[in-house]
Amino acid sequence: MSGHTPALAERMQHIGLSPTMKGTIAAERLRREGVDVVDLGAGEPDFPTPAHITAAAHKALDANFTKYTANMGTLELREAIGFRYRENYGVSYAPDEIIAAAGGKQALFHTAMTLFNPGDEVITHAPGWPTLLEQIKLAGATPVVVRTSAADGFALTANLLLSAVTPRTKAIIVNSPGNPTGALISEAEAHTLAVESARLGLWVIVDLCYEQLVYDNVPHNLPKVFGDVMRDKLVLCGSASKGYAMTGWRCGWVMAPKAVVSGCNALQSHESSNVNSITQKAVVAGLIGPQDCVTEMRVIYKQRRDQVIEWLREEPRILCPVPRGAFYLFPTVDAFLTPAVPTSQAFADGLLAKEHVVITPAEAFEATGAFRLSYATSLERLREGVTRIIRYAHSLS
Ligand code: PMP
Repeated sequence: MSGHTPALAERMQHIGLSPTMKGTIAAERLRREGVDVVDLGAGEPDFPTPAHITAAAHKALDANFTKYTANMGTLELREAIGFRYRENYGVSYAPDEIIAAAGGKQALFHTAMTLFNPGDEVITHAPGWPTLLEQIKLAGATPVVVRTSAADGFALTANLLLSAVTPRTKAIIVNSPGNPTGALISEAEAHTLAVESARLGLWVIVDLCYEQLVYDNVPHNLPKVFGDVMRDKLVLCGSASKGYAMTGWRCGWVMAPKAVVSGCNALQSHESSNVNSITQKAVVAGLIGPQDCVTEMRVIYKQRRDQVIEWLREEPRILCPVPRGAFYLFPTVDAFLTPAVPTSQAFADGLLAKEHVVITPAEAFEATGAFRLSYATSLERLREGVTRIIRYAHSLS
């Protein structure tokens, strides 16, 4: 036996495990040692899946709905997705313009594989969800990242995205509400972006993963704003994960012109096939059933957002823009960085070691000097977490 590393494919030199997993693993180790860890790292709702959704799954199982379905998802599911977008946004997608995938993540991945060529540039924004960059690279294309800033609440503007366009640009990916900042692109900016992208012949891909979690009555009808201008070059990627508290069920979707959906369908037919059959029945119940559960969760998230921001203000050097969506805050901790703790990664490591709080440092999102705090946990744990964060910050300065 030689001690050589096995010769993995070249692409594996450019890809690692998702960095957001790191804190979770360290926290798990501490927890096993009996330590009281406050976990503000979660990228998923803390609510159970609503009862009428799980009931539909039980029913499907009892009816032995356990075989392959259409590769794209059942007609019932695709109609339910179309129904929900018609209800929520007034846009119209036919079942052959919709494919269900195993999560928004797979929906976005199949979109990338269907649209991007080696040599293409694809523009996206940071601080941002790292998977988008990795998927662009896995498709052989080159990510081009523009930066939003804390000073203006991580506002994403058309000009910022368009400033990165070159003759090689193929597409622009917008994630709104965004992970990790919770920031939205405004409808006005989205409209300008749509008009310019159409003029330049660019694709726009909108990651709508957190679309159900928008607060303060901010109008945010991206499907219609983009769709009215450039429906033939628009890809909408959605998910049941966050809005319906269904992260483990694995269901997302692509809504796009037929050619894109056919491409995703071909890929999926050789890869994972249909979304789990029971999950499909459950998601139908979520999409066509009463939406009060979504509203109830949204109300609670908003209360937590407001409360945690107020608590963080106990330490004015922690700067925290008020995000309009998702369930994350992205406070800046530049003021506390020292030669001994020079980065937000070091800040997060120290916070975990000394105060046993898990946050996700900005470095996980192509950014610096900040951290992501998830408020998808109880107010009681949030209070304890913020107390510890402030105590730790004071210990540094
Ligand atoms: N987009 C963003 C911005 C996300 O944060 C996530 C999940 N963390 C996803 C898409 C995909 O989620 P899922 O695959 O569970 O639908």
